[in-house]
Amino acid sequence: MNEYIAGLNTLPTNRVIKSMIKYAKNNKIPIVNDEGLTMILLLVDIVKPKRFLEIGTAIGYCVINIALRNPVVKIDTIERNPALCERAVDYIAAANLSERVNVHCADALELDPDLLAADYDMIFIDAAKAQYINYFEKYKEKLAPGGLILTDNLLFHGLVGKSKTIASRDLKHLTEKIDKFNRWLSRNKEFQTRFFAIGDGFAVSRRIEK
Ligand code: SAH
Ligand code: MG
Repeated sequence: MNEYIAGLNTLPTNRVIKSMIKYAKNNKIPIVNDEGLTMILLLVDIVKPKRFLEIGTAIGYCVINIALRNPVVKIDTIERNPALCERAVDYIAAANLSERVNVHCADALELDPDLLAADYDMIFIDAAKAQYINYFEKYKEKLAPGGLILTDNLLFHGLVGKSKTIASRDLKHLTEKIDKFNRWLSRNKEFQTRFFAIGDGFAVSRRIEK
């Protein structure tokens, strides 16, 4: 984020958050950046969700920030990597948030949806980028009326839309998949979506009321 602007915004901070930022940096864990987090927290302040669902927990950085910002929200978050799940559970306990933040250690595409609530006011999709259409289609069923679906990393480090210039085949394929998701979402008749070059590319989708 622009450093001057970053200095004007304040984000939640405490001992646990500081140690998570350090851990993510040292272990190359892709947590949401300050700009993306600022946007998510703004939306949390406006929507005041009672329930929040995140797909892709990593170490729990984003959900801990949300729970610290909003003292009543109940959060479910899904992570398929058992070592990261364990880390997230420990950090959530250290932040005294275990009663409100529940980590499901499972692949989001395999998890039995009946284990979750039926009505999330906000859903944040932030797991394996190649699967975004699948997460969106599965979890839109869990969105409360008037709720929002947020998606992150739509630019994938600025590479989406520039696949011709990418040498690595895997990376090229991934950026093309994200581009396909972005176009699919922008044409989607069920949701109205706004796209932003904030953070690593961010979208906010709202179901169109009939
Ligand atoms: N939202 C977190 C960062 C998530 S990083 C934050 O901002 O703090 C993406 C995470 O998604 C990784 O930890 C990865 O293991 C997880 N992931 C990828 N595909 C998944 C899937 N299908 N189901 C559950 N988790 C998945
Ligand atoms: Mg992300």
